[in-house]
Amino acid sequence: FARNPGEAEFHQAVSEVFEALDPVVERHPQYVEAGVLHRLCEPERQIIFRVPWVDDQGTVQVNRGFRVEFNSALGPYKGGLRFHPSVYLGIIKFLGFEQIFKNSLTGMPIGGGKGGSDFDPAGRSDGEIMRFCQSFMTELHRHIGEHTDVPAGDIGVGGREIGYMFGQYKRLTNRFEAGVLTGKGLTWGGSLVRTEATGYGAVMFADSMLRTRGESMDGQQVLISGSGNVAIYAAEKAAALGATVLTASDSAGYIVDPDGIDVDLLKQLKEVERARISEYAERKGGRARYVAGGSVWDVEGTVALPCATQNELDENAAKTLLKQGVKAVAEGANMPCTESAAHLFVAAGTLFGPGKAANAGGVATSALEMQQNAVRDSWGFEYTHDRLEQIMRDIHDRCVETAEEYGTPGNYAAGANIAGFIKVADAMISQGVV
Ligand code: NDP
Repeated sequence: FARNPGEAEFHQAVSEVFEALDPVVERHPQYVEAGVLHRLCEPERQIIFRVPWVDDQGTVQVNRGFRVEFNSALGPYKGGLRFHPSVYLGIIKFLGFEQIFKNSLTGMPIGGGKGGSDFDPAGRSDGEIMRFCQSFMTELHRHIGEHTDVPAGDIGVGGREIGYMFGQYKRLTNRFEAGVLTGKGLTWGGSLVRTEATGYGAVMFADSMLRTRGESMDGQQVLISGSGNVAIYAAEKAAALGATVLTASDSAGYIVDPDGIDVDLLKQLKEVERARISEYAERKGGRARYVAGGSVWDVEGTVALPCATQNELDENAAKTLLKQGVKAVAEGANMPCTESAAHLFVAAGTLFGPGKAANAGGVATSALEMQQNAVRDSWGFEYTHDRLEQIMRDIHDRCVETAEEYGTPGNYAAGANIAGFIKVADAMISQGVV
């Protein structure tokens, strides 16, 4: 930790993984002897760069750009780009570190990386977003490529931003290299189901967990935080599987709709109008209400899907959820539960699906997008959806089997960390000390 001062989220992510690895290194000392643990914590490459751009008033703005190419043992670096004012190196490193194990769990040939900027897209015009994306890509393009590093979206980066960045990459390189970015538009190399994949996958994972106890998503009362890409499609899939989705939120407050969130209205507000979640209650009427500030975890429900951001569900929220009898928690976001909240769920025997397993559907479908790009094909919705479903069930089963094998039955967090680690560690040993 002394080597990476001030990077609290990165420390948290590393300690969560290493805690789970104790029984692995005891059984397989070769991982320590080959320096795998030390090497894993040090990114292969970290790029930090200036992103200058001109706003609508003609003022020059300067942001900081990051790309952390963490581990390429299994394939080209793969992971999203986040545009949010809270971004600094510690956030990008925590996300990149998590991505190594998540990508390994998908069974796809992809390494781990992450990037982004402290740029705040809130309130910016389309023109400003485009100029920022173009400036960001003007530097980033030197470091990425379909066989090197393949970025995608994350918080603040959706289809619009990927489009502007792809356009600039093409202009700079004079190549239509579809496989350099994922999350592209459907008419120029994007994959069906990519938009839905993370949210859908998180709900499929929750459903698999519930089935181990003779239940399913059908009939559950679901609490969702966030109202972005992951939250919207988690709500859509949960409702399709027969659950009632009670909540959604943004950084200003949350909505409760006892009649079930109207997903079409949510999409209209967030994807088309880019409005705040407070508007939902006004437009929906009926029993829907908006609560400024506060926490969705105060609402009573049986399944919790945190889909907003890191550390949004703390120890107190976990205690409230447990008191209310929550049966399953699946992390749609990356590390949304604090370490102590996660411990409480596991200790209480609540089904707890960690992000690196539960939200892996997005990157898995990105890998399917790369496959389609490589063979210049485009697959149908049903086919891609079925592949996503199979991948999520496989990840679930791998977590269960690995947790059992290493003496922690039912502990999905341990299962995910150990299964993700072993595959990467073995590949690193095979490839020598690099
Ligand atoms: P979006 O930008 O589409 O949505 C983010 C949502 O979270 C918004 O509702 C936003 O509210 C809220 N939010 C963001 N930051 C904060 C904060 N500091 N406090 C409270 N609320 C906040 O992002 P995504 O839906 O794509 O990503 C959500 C999470 O899922 C992230 O953790 C991301 O890393 C993870 N993830 C995403 C994947 C994907 O495919 N998109 C894949 C795997 C994981 P507001 O508008 O007020 O900021």
